[in-house]
Amino acid sequence: MSRPAPVTITPVHVADLVAEGELMPVYVHVVEHPDGRVLVDTGMTELHPAVADMDPRLRPLDEQGFDLASIDAVVNTHLHFDHCGGNVLFPGVPVYVQRQELEDARRLEGYTIREWVDSPGVTYVPVDGEHEVLPGIRLLPAPGHTRGTQVVVVETGGRPVVICGDVAVWAGELDEPTTEGQLLVRSLDPEQVWLAHTHEPWRPPAR
Ligand SMILES: [Zn+2]
Repeated sequence: MSRPAPVTITPVHVADLVAEGELMPVYVHVVEHPDGRVLVDTGMTELHPAVADMDPRLRPLDEQGFDLASIDAVVNTHLHFDHCGGNVLFPGVPVYVQRQELEDARRLEGYTIREWVDSPGVTYVPVDGEHEVLPGIRLLPAPGHTRGTQVVVVETGGRPVVICGDVAVWAGELDEPTTEGQLLVRSLDPEQVWLAHTHEPWRPPAR
């Protein structure tokens, strides 16, 4: 008797940015599922004058031995530049994003680095609301940081693990949730929550 391989989540450090005088890491997350590998957010691959003030220090996926060809699907939690800049590395791979987010990124001024959103070969799958990417890997709209933000909820057998992008930029925000997205994440009673800009996942206080 063989049991299915467990789903695992691995953070990959792809950049550092300077925000409010502090070095802020940028992470993407690989979800290893028996039916495929899903990459959540893609970081950055190059510098851009629009964000030079954040002094990006890059560790792009394609320069750290990451197996790009192994990725079966990409999820963008949202389309700010530090979450979609590596989409260009995955031509033809389905990229799941909320339709609202894609529309905002394409239309609103100053929202992101627009040419990174629609890099050549990037193949979006616009999603309206909840969507299951693979069995036990669900996308849920979680507005707040942006109105089209989504989180990735991964069933692990026990309490779920959530990959939340920037629903909380700082871990402390989940201690006292205020946005719809933060309240949603807390309502899921997660075992842990991976953020894009912290080295360690957030965990709820012991009950
Ligand atoms: Zn953001």
